Amino acid sequence: MNVATLTIPEIRKALLAKACSAEELCREALAFAETENPSTHAYLHLSPERALDGARRVDARIAAGEDPGALAGVPVAVKDVIVTKGLRTTCASRMLENFVPPYDATAVERLEAAGGLIIGKTNCDEFAMGSSNENSAFGPVRNPVALDRVPGGSSGGSAAVVAQGTAVVSLGSDTGGSIRQPASFCGVVGITPTYGRVSRYGLVAFASSLDHIGPFARTVEDAATLLRVTAGRDERDATSALAPVDDYPAAMAADVRGMKVGLPKEYFAGLASETGDLIAKAVDQLKELGCDIVDISLPHTDYAIATYYIICTAEASSNLARYDGARYTFRSPNSGTLEGMYRNTRGEGFGAECKRRIMLGTYVLSAGYYDAYYRKAQKVRNLITQDFLRAYEQVDAIVAPVSPFPAFKLGEKMSDPLEMYLSDIYTITGSLAGIPCMSVPAGRTSDGLPVGMQILTKHFDEAGMLRLARAYERATS
Ligand code: GLN
Repeated sequence: MNVATLTIPEIRKALLAKACSAEELCREALAFAETENPSTHAYLHLSPERALDGARRVDARIAAGEDPGALAGVPVAVKDVIVTKGLRTTCASRMLENFVPPYDATAVERLEAAGGLIIGKTNCDEFAMGSSNENSAFGPVRNPVALDRVPGGSSGGSAAVVAQGTAVVSLGSDTGGSIRQPASFCGVVGITPTYGRVSRYGLVAFASSLDHIGPFARTVEDAATLLRVTAGRDERDATSALAPVDDYPAAMAADVRGMKVGLPKEYFAGLASETGDLIAKAVDQLKELGCDIVDISLPHTDYAIATYYIICTAEASSNLARYDGARYTFRSPNSGTLEGMYRNTRGEGFGAECKRRIMLGTYVLSAGYYDAYYRKAQKVRNLITQDFLRAYEQVDAIVAPVSPFPAFKLGEKMSDPLEMYLSDIYTITGSLAGIPCMSVPAGRTSDGLPVGMQILTKHFDEAGMLRLARAYERATS
């Protein structure tokens, strides 16, 4: 079996037919990850013991004639901002370099209960802040499609392992685009579910009102399977939603004839030509599938980046206050006083982007500026959400580009943070509104670089989003 191209149904079939054991498959996947990883540095660390233990449990269930679970024997990678009991979780930061969590995230617990095997933790931007994976304290990830280019960020490692075939599926996190943008850059499927759909318990907080956990996969069906396993109410996360989880496989079987798809005009002006051409082609394909294409407007789109960078930095400055050297791992050895310990720990433990955001966030929350920035940003966030709700009175789904450009070269945007922030211009709106959105591969540029199409639907309508994505995938592969 070629572990690099396997899908979840193929693994299930092979295990149930006893063509191989979960342990054999797991060993093969681990060996493949070990040889391939140095080229991309997508994994920060592998977890062979944990994966093999899980594989043996799957084999025992199969031998006992029990259902081994929806993810039985599936090698899964987990972004290193999601905690794993007994397995180092670094957030790609010096601050947590040796942090070994005492508990599992709910998403991790659920995927392992369904037979999934955690084979390693993936590299990312430090505390999920970035769009290129170059902010990792442990070195960048390279895009497996073109090794001189970035994989996108912040979940660059989770996208890269799936594209490279060193995992079948993976979990990432998205605050302003960190699942969709790397999925687009690496040519894989990436889903940001509705805010609250997947429990954030055990996701190290960056901006709590915007943080989501979501899946990456090579097929829409595999992504839907991982989403379904991890989704649903969790008592341990007060923001996790009570809304029932739909039967995604059944939803995906339905056709999309008559579905109304909106194209927001604000997302198509100023788009790089090749990306624009590929999205236009994808829209033609949706027409052929029987969708009604409708021009719409999301008038507050222009304010999204400014709004996002006020809200996310404000929340980050508060969430990152806990890394003070008194708790959790890193403490600077270079200080003789308590205040010096705080200063030096934070000065030496955080990278430049984290410091930039802590400073910005502290500023927008300060007494004199709170109303002018933070409160105003909350109001604009509401207007952006209203734009979507109004659009959904007219259409069932919205289609847009994911990123204005395909994967760029390593180093290309590092000297200009504002230019880097623009990478997320099309993804941030969906995050602010908390609606489900995803990236599905929509072809490649003349240089062979993948481009993703973004699909967005109403709150909790993951089923409608997946139906459209699956119909498009079926028609184009
Ligand atoms: N690139 C955006 C940022 O730097 C989004 C990050 C994310 O979604 N985690 O904040």
